[in-house]
Amino acid sequence: MYDVAKIRADFPILSREVNGKPLTYLDNGASAQKPSVVIDAVNRAYAEEYSNVHRGLHYLSNLATEKYESVRGKIARFLNAPHEDTIVLNSGTTEGINLVSYGWAAPRFEAGDEIILSVMEHHANIVPWHFLRERQGVVLKWVDTAPDGSLDPQAVIDAITPKTKLIAITQCSNVLGTIVDVKSICTGARDKGVPVLVDGSQGAVHMPVDVQDIDCDFYAITGHKLYGPSGSGAIYIRPERMAEMRPFMGGGDMIKDVSKDTVTYNEPPMKFEAGTPGIVQTIGLGVALDYMMNVGMENIAAHEADLRSYAQQRLTGLNWINLQGTAAGKAAIFSFTLDGAAHAHDISTILDKKGVAVRAGHHCAGPLMEHLGVTATCRASFGMYNTKAEVDTLIDALELAHELFA
Ligand code: PLP
Repeated sequence: MYDVAKIRADFPILSREVNGKPLTYLDNGASAQKPSVVIDAVNRAYAEEYSNVHRGLHYLSNLATEKYESVRGKIARFLNAPHEDTIVLNSGTTEGINLVSYGWAAPRFEAGDEIILSVMEHHANIVPWHFLRERQGVVLKWVDTAPDGSLDPQAVIDAITPKTKLIAITQCSNVLGTIVDVKSICTGARDKGVPVLVDGSQGAVHMPVDVQDIDCDFYAITGHKLYGPSGSGAIYIRPERMAEMRPFMGGGDMIKDVSKDTVTYNEPPMKFEAGTPGIVQTIGLGVALDYMMNVGMENIAAHEADLRSYAQQRLTGLNWINLQGTAAGKAAIFSFTLDGAAHAHDISTILDKKGVAVRAGHHCAGPLMEHLGVTATCRASFGMYNTKAEVDTLIDALELAHELFA
C-alpha cells in the first residue's frame, strides 16, 4: 500500500508555506525536493566524513572514497546495468551527453553523417549535437510528434539512412510527459547498426528502467530530478561504446601516468571522470536512489499513473485550457496555455500567490515550442509525493487565473 502521507513526511520542505499558503510543489520536472535521508547524508558527509576521494591514504579519504564509489554500484542496480564499470559518474545529464558528443561522436563523425533527434528533445540533447553540425558538418534530422504528442518509434527507425550514425532520444518529454518506446527504437536501430543514446533525465524518475532490456548504448540520468542533490548524475555506457571513446576532459584522476612528453589514461570508467568530482552530491544521490528503490519504482509509477489520470480528467474538464500532449503513454507532466491573452508567466505568478509552484516558459525545448506553435507554456509536473488534493488546488488556482484574465 502506497502511503503518500508517510512519503510526504519524509520531505521537510513540503510542510512549509509559500505566500501564506501550504506549498503545492508541481515543478518536479525542473528539480525534485529532497527527503530528510538525503539532506542528513549530505550534512553527515560534510560534518563527519569529508575528504577528497581516490588519492589519499588516510582514514577520511578512504571513508569518503568508499562511500562515493559505492554509488556507482547503486546506480548500476537502479538502471540494471550489467556492471558498475559501465557507469560514468558526473554532474548530470548535460555533462553526460556532452561526454558522448565530445568523447565518442566528434572523433568518429564526418561531414554529412546524420544524427536523428525527436522534436521534443531538451536543449541538453540538442545543443551538443549542434556543436557537431557547426564544427563538422554533421546533419541533424528531426522526427516530429503526432498531434497528441506521441512519437511513433517506427518513424524514428524509418528516418535511418546509411549516413545515420546515432539516434539521440528522450525516454520522456519534459514538456508533454510523452513516454517514448525507446526499446522498440533500440531494436530497430540495432538491426541497422545504429547506436542509440537515451536521455533518461525524466524517464528514470517515473518508471523502472532496465538498460539491458532497452538495449541502448548510452543512458543519461541527472540526480537532482531523482530526489538527490544538484550537481550529481551519471551515464550508462555500453562497454563496446566505452572502448571506442576518447576522454573528453583531462586532469587529475583520469590518468595513470603523466610525464613531460607522454600521458597514459586510467581504465574506464575513471578515464572519463577528470578532476575532483561532486563527492558529497554523488553520495547524496546514492541515498536518494536507495530511497526510491525502497519505495519501489513500480509503486511510484502506479501512484503517478493514478495522479496522471485524475489530473488529466480534471484539466480536460476546463474548456479554456489548451492541454499540450494527451498521448496514452504519458507521465504526470502537463503543459498548457489558457485561452485569452494571459502569458504563461502571468499564470504562474497567480498560481504562486496560491502556493502552487509550476514552471512557465519554453522549458529548454525550443524545437518543440516551434512545432507546437507556442512561445511558452505553463507546466505542472508531479512527483512521488504529490496528491490528488494538490491536483484540486492546482485547478482552483487555475480557475482564479482564468477569472482574472478572461
Ligand atoms: N533532458 C531532459 C529531458 C530534461 O528535462 C533535463 C532537465 O530539465 C535535462 C535533459 C538536463 O538535465 P541537467 O540540467 O540536470 O543536466
